[in-house]
Amino acid sequence: MTGVEVHLGLPTVGPAPDGGARPQSYRVEVGDGYALQVLDLGLACCAVEFVSAVAAFPDVLQPEDDDVHADSARPRVAVMVVSGTVTDKMAPAVRRAYDRLPEPRLVVSFGSCASSGGPYWDSYCVTKGIDQVVPVDLYVPGCPPRPEALVQALRALDRCAPR
Ligand code: SF4
Repeated sequence: MTGVEVHLGLPTVGPAPDGGARPQSYRVEVGDGYALQVLDLGLACCAVEFVSAVAAFPDVLQPEDDDVHADSARPRVAVMVVSGTVTDKMAPAVRRAYDRLPEPRLVVSFGSCASSGGPYWDSYCVTKGIDQVVPVDLYVPGCPPRPEALVQALRALDRCAPR
């Protein structure tokens, strides 16, 4: 399979550029300063823990509706959570997803695979960490990390300077 471009659901604000459905994002209030617009780039089993966090902490991760939150005075920071194994074939799509994020933007590497290749670190086709592809602001260890770890990580982003 050479020459095949992989397209992920690209994080966007507003309608998707191709007119299709855009991925669900979640709003997380942090501190008094700004709100996070969190998008999950779920690529393997760690993504299940993202879904678990949404189910277990609905008061923290609120499904975002642009119409509902458009009047919020808080500035928004886009957060891409990469959860799961990234292959070298998939890595350019991860980069494209990052490039499409509105600024300011932050990246969370969620789980061992995203951070280092995890159990598949010695596979010929697995990327040894998404920081080879995009800048990472926060790493969450674990195989998989617990849902609580995602909530802790998002709250910790309050200390990261948005860029
Ligand atoms: S870190 Fe473990 S649970 Fe997460 S994607 Fe890799 S193998 Fe699956």
